[in-house]
Amino acid sequence: MSYFINNIHSVTDASGAHSYPQGIHLRVSGHIISEIGSDLQPRENETIIDGSDKVLMPGFVNTHHHLFQSVLKGLDVSINHRLFDWLNHVTFPRVSRVNEQHLRAGVRLGLAELMLSGTTVCADHHYIYYQDSNPELGDILFEEAGQLGIRLVLCRGGQLRTDRDMEYPNKNTVPETMDFYMRDIERLTGLYHQTTYDAMSKIVVAPNTPTFSLDPGMLRELAGFARSLQLRMHSHLSETENYVEYCLATHQCLPLEFVAKYDWVGNDVWYAHMVHLTDQEIKIVADTGTGVSHCPSSNGRLASGIARIKDMDDAGVPISIGVDGAASNEAAHMLSELRLSWLMQRAATRNAKDITLERVIGWGTVNGARILGYQNMGLIQPGGVADFTLFSLDKLANYGMHEPKYSPVACGDASVDTLFCNGKPIIQQGSIPGLDRDKLKADCAQAVRELA
Ligand SMILES: [Zn+2]
Repeated sequence: MSYFINNIHSVTDASGAHSYPQGIHLRVSGHIISEIGSDLQPRENETIIDGSDKVLMPGFVNTHHHLFQSVLKGLDVSINHRLFDWLNHVTFPRVSRVNEQHLRAGVRLGLAELMLSGTTVCADHHYIYYQDSNPELGDILFEEAGQLGIRLVLCRGGQLRTDRDMEYPNKNTVPETMDFYMRDIERLTGLYHQTTYDAMSKIVVAPNTPTFSLDPGMLRELAGFARSLQLRMHSHLSETENYVEYCLATHQCLPLEFVAKYDWVGNDVWYAHMVHLTDQEIKIVADTGTGVSHCPSSNGRLASGIARIKDMDDAGVPISIGVDGAASNEAAHMLSELRLSWLMQRAATRNAKDITLERVIGWGTVNGARILGYQNMGLIQPGGVADFTLFSLDKLANYGMHEPKYSPVACGDASVDTLFCNGKPIIQQGSIPGLDRDKLKADCAQAVRELA
């Protein structure tokens, strides 16, 4: 299939924001953007899509999420808690009760929300696996993503059983063994892990938290295991100050020193949050090429702090943006994550001229793509993977803008008219084909009742 996007008004990506009052055209051939120019003409049998009065941007790449949490938003017991209390009140009491129906509803809702904010890749840190749970529930994520047409990177999470774990008051949350975890990753890799430039699905090795959800020796073994399969590695790190204090008390070193000691740094590793890092730790991250998924809404919602993203970026750390689970966000909206990154990094550094919209867009697109192993994604250029959004500017927030090319991220409220993923439109005229919104609403309401 070939598509011709006609008369686009503005094109905005990490390389710059450009207006074309006379319109510019873009051709999609197969899975790639084949041509961009003002003198192109549509060909016979091409599908023409109107780009007038619209802003074209690369698809956003969300590098950290927990999709199942989309049906755990806004619980009264958690709305005013910080991380540890939030975990104790929201996720810990409910994870073993999430069944297939709840999971499907949450995953579909989260992915649809992401798509309607211009996202084409979601890395989901999925961790509800236990000794007696069915690991194939995780495969549902690929089924749902496949039906919607969005790319999914499954970061296979979980807590692992260790020698120090003696008793489990809730037998439904007894962790898996290391052996079971590795066998399931091998199974998932065989079924879903694609290595082509346009992979629709990938697998990542991602235990919940390196400092306490497994033993250090297991951590090192898992790094070797992941690298033997050429899989990337992901986890949470240094989200709150308690996290750092725990690592100092238990392992007598800072979190980045700890993970470096056990081979969990490198350009095939990225961590969510990294809110509390010392200068010395930023140097470790930069020197090793380890990436970060900055989650500004979640870090704000849980009062965790503001990550030193500008300092890390200046030092050469690969920066990307994540939504994090909706139980600590109440949304899955990449446009608002980019806007919040832009505003909060300016506020934290009192520096406006260096935190440009283009720089932030780079974090949310091309940088995220590279962290996930996509080398040819995230810029609007010939030869790039055809993942992009046409934003229409019909929301009131966009009225009065002198430069519409800045509207989507600066206003944080533009509607997705068309979303292309891998050369195919997966949103057309603002709606997702095949998504039954009434059914989704009813399924989510049922999950909320049953997980109350
Ligand atoms: Zn998370």
